[in-house]
Order: sequence, then structure tokens, then C-alpha cells
Amino acid sequence: MLKAPNNNNNGVTFLADAMLGSIARKLRIFGFDTLYVAHAHDNEILKMGIDQNRVILTADKELFKRIVKAGTRGVLVSCSSDAEDLVHILSKNGITSIDLNGIGSRCSICNGLLTGRTPVQVKNTIPDKVAACHSEFFQCVDCSKVYWEGGHLRRIRALAKSVDSKLGRAVTAT
Ligand SMILES: [Zn+2]
Repeated sequence: MLKAPNNNNNGVTFLADAMLGSIARKLRIFGFDTLYVAHAHDNEILKMGIDQNRVILTADKELFKRIVKAGTRGVLVSCSSDAEDLVHILSKNGITSIDLNGIGSRCSICNGLLTGRTPVQVKNTIPDKVAACHSEFFQCVDCSKVYWEGGHLRRIRALAKSVDSKLGRAVTAT
């Protein structure tokens, strides 16, 4: 079941650079406030991260050096697997578990918050066969995209559980 709102962010918000679109979408679905900038110069990313107090996520070593030099927060992402990258990003920011109830609280497309909708409210925006076999919907308050429980969300939930258990082990090990 989708749930909104969430308590997943632990006060941490993210800013992902152009190479990390997939990670940004997954962080959003996990419930983390994550901006994704596909077309921005390093200077702009750095300034945005500092101004908005966001942890900058980048796979670019040169940008990461500048983040460190500027004394702001960032994580150098190795782009191994999404699960490993997510564990790395979250554990670096003191996040020791994922609130599975927070999954599906945020729009993966635009980072907006999702709100519950009845089938009648979303009737005109979803395919008939989806309307026929689902009773619970969520809609992004910013871009109006409609979400429902489905295979995609089940895979995300499985990924979240895997990341969550790895986070638990990372904590036990230290
Ligand atoms: Zn949206």
C-alpha cells in the first residue's frame, strides 16, 4: 500500500547531478526530498547545494573535490549497483534505516508530495483496466501524475528492504 506523508528524510535532503537520475528517482520513491539537475554547470550545482543545504550527490570526482573544498556536504557515488550506491549514500548521512511506510510518498518524476485519491477522482487520468483492478490511488500535488500499487512499486519495496537490511548491518559492523 502506498502511504503519505512520510518520515523518511531524517532532516536530510539531496541534490543529485546529471549522472544520477536513477538514484534520484529511487531516493524520491523511498521518501527522500531529492532534487535532480540534468543540465547545470558544476558551479550552479555547488551553489544550489550550499544555498538549499542539500547533500550533493555526484559521480564526478572533480566536482566532489570542489564540494569538499567548499566545506559543504556531498557524497561521491561510485555507480556500482543502485542498492550499493543507496546504502553508501544513506549510511554516509547517518541514516540507519528506511521507513518502509514512507515509500510512495513522493513523486519520482518531480519530487512533489503525493496525496491520496479515490478512483472517482483519478478516473479520467488512468487507463480503464487500471481503474478496474485498483481501488487506491495517489496523485502528485505538483505535476498531477497518478500512482497506484503495481509491479514497479513492489520491486522498489524489495529494493528498499534490501537496502534497509544492509544499512542495519553497516551500523552493527561499526
Ligand atoms: Zn510530480
